[in-house]
Amino acid sequence: MANQEDHFKAVISHAKEYGYVFPSSEIYDGLSAVYDYGPLGCELKNNLKQYWWKSMVQLNENIVGIDAAIFMHPKTWKASGHTDAFNDPLIDNKDSKKRYRADVLVEEWVAKIEGKINKEVQKATKRFGDDFDEAQFRATNPRVLRNQEKIDEANKQFKSAMNAEDLEAVRQLIIDLDIADPVSGSRNWTEVRQFNLMFSTEMGSTADGAQTIYLRPETAQGIFVNFLNVQKTARVKVPFGIAQIGKAFRNEIVARQFIFRMREFEQMEMQFFVRPGEEMKWYEHWKEARMQWHLSLGLPKEKYRFHDHLKMAHYANAAADIEFEFPFGMKELEGIHSRTDFDLKQHQALSGKKLQYFDPEINENYVPYVVETSIGLDRLFLAVLSTALETETLEDGSSRVVMKIPAFLAPYKVAVLPLTKKDGLPDKAREIMDGLKLQYNCQYDEKDAIGKRYRRQDAIGTPFALTVDHQTLEDDTVTIRERDSMEQERIKIEELAGRIAQKLQHTF
Ligand code: ATP
Repeated sequence: MANQEDHFKAVISHAKEYGYVFPSSEIYDGLSAVYDYGPLGCELKNNLKQYWWKSMVQLNENIVGIDAAIFMHPKTWKASGHTDAFNDPLIDNKDSKKRYRADVLVEEWVAKIEGKINKEVQKATKRFGDDFDEAQFRATNPRVLRNQEKIDEANKQFKSAMNAEDLEAVRQLIIDLDIADPVSGSRNWTEVRQFNLMFSTEMGSTADGAQTIYLRPETAQGIFVNFLNVQKTARVKVPFGIAQIGKAFRNEIVARQFIFRMREFEQMEMQFFVRPGEEMKWYEHWKEARMQWHLSLGLPKEKYRFHDHLKMAHYANAAADIEFEFPFGMKELEGIHSRTDFDLKQHQALSGKKLQYFDPEINENYVPYVVETSIGLDRLFLAVLSTALETETLEDGSSRVVMKIPAFLAPYKVAVLPLTKKDGLPDKAREIMDGLKLQYNCQYDEKDAIGKRYRRQDAIGTPFALTVDHQTLEDDTVTIRERDSMEQERIKIEELAGRIAQKLQHTF
């Protein structure tokens, strides 16, 4: 594959060309960090949502779903801490006039040093071959140790500066680490400032005394304020979970990575309510369960890793990210947080309403602790798309662009292609498609030579193409071609549905 930057550019232009993702309001030159999903994009997105929902809600008797409103009472955000503390530290470069998140600059510096360590490890792996003991090498090689020490020290200083809200110390760290503007190379930095990420708007007319309200920056709070409504109506007992898929909005400072960091995005969150004192057990449980879920999608295992948080959010007593290797590096895809009883207690305090659960097993009333799993649907979409897109060189020296999206997630499952537009082949093809389309999203295509049509289906990721030819009219067989292997096989029409179902079968 070409280098990662080129690959990322190819993903973005492919996404646009084939109707996966468009810039928002493109005819007006777009709106920064806001995107629209096209015909194929919304199919893939829906399939991802459905897979998550089924694995969370349908497969777990003790998890139920809700769909809360985007607008919430403004006190919600006071209680959750977002009004006062949902800030990112920002810093500007005086020469390039570009704005950065100070924490991201430090993170990228750490990633660069980690890259150096990994290079040492790779070199040694080559040198020592089968005898190589990576753990021992990492623990003893002086260059690796020196770099690791630098990373640990930078992380420590950053954490303590942020915890102390000492923004001058954050700036000093950026200077001490000799971090330059990635665009201009300049080290001419402004001071660091805090910036609140919530979007606000007005509700009601000014004559009524309009109220400032916020677009929710996370879906979680809609779950917390409904905790008792759900617990009582669904008759669930602790431990239980509430799942939700919905839009969230953040006025991100730096939004340059396509759908990785958007100002309007979609979250799939699940808040799991547990007995106080049992949260660490459940935190470990969900960390593991969520990683297994990711692996079940079928993307390469080595693209995932856990990353424990350095800078814990104000509500958490343990937090980890599941990171994914995007074309621009290992970045957060999902967060698993032990949120303690912070949110429910805060809502209790500000609303004056009890948010407690009576646990019949131990005869006690308590405010449950919460373990959260929170994944960005758009990031998941990007993970799938950027991994799936490949340019392959074929045996005859030609190349093909193919989207190897896991078959069960593909927007279209089947393409139905009459070999020619004559001799009743289109009618036969439509008849076959009618037999399949209730179950599978199918696409009919009769334009251009068959080879060209195969390429078009490869490029949008359709796992199966059925070709209807003259023999079909004689013996009711079609050719089924598989996207990844490009193998073709003749099978009876009556066996098609069973064959496709078998190939699409997917277990969690
Ligand atoms: P980051 O550190 O990358 O800003 P975060 O730690 O603020 O992310 P959380 O508040 O934990 O993110 O949100 C949960 C999930 O929502 C993230 O793991 C991510 O997948 C997704 N997410 C957060 N912000 C965005 C965004 N601006 N665009 C797209 N997805 C996002």
